Amino acid sequence: MHPAERLELIRYCVRCGARLERREAYGAVRPVCPGCRHVHFLDPKVAVAVVVEQDGRILLIQRRGDPEAGKWSIPAGFMDAGEDPRAAAEREALEETGLIVRATTLWEVFGRTDPEEGADLLLAFRAEVVGGALVPGDDAADARFFGPQELPEAIAFGSAKAILADWLRVPGRDSTG
Ligand SMILES: [Zn+2]
Repeated sequence: MHPAERLELIRYCVRCGARLERREAYGAVRPVCPGCRHVHFLDPKVAVAVVVEQDGRILLIQRRGDPEAGKWSIPAGFMDAGEDPRAAAEREALEETGLIVRATTLWEVFGRTDPEEGADLLLAFRAEVVGGALVPGDDAADARFFGPQELPEAIAFGSAKAILADWLRVPGRDSTG
């Protein structure tokens, strides 16, 4: 959901339950409580993703739900508050693909690429398969490894497109199949 829409949905104070007003606060118009003066900040929504490569192929999942249902993306999901980012990425990979992975180095940090995208911030990690078996999870319609010449046409989200474009840019990859 677009951040502006998320902000619209915030109507009542989480502290005292009073109806919020829109007031200038800290340099922007924000929901402010006329009762207890609590200012509601819309925190960025954080997602984590894994770039898993095996035998020259990359792991993708086919999205079951909206947004972008039916399109392919890299395994990803929302991070819970207090969760370690790498542990969250490993958890999402297991949930979506059945593979036990170990997140290693940071691949890239992405800001929002699309208003309809779920996250404001995406942390993508390289990850290695250390166990498990490739089986699509409940929120994935399919999960498969793709070679450079086999990538599906329909890719969800600007961040996944950017990751695949970078992945293909490794010398030799775009011609080896
Ligand atoms: Zn209040």
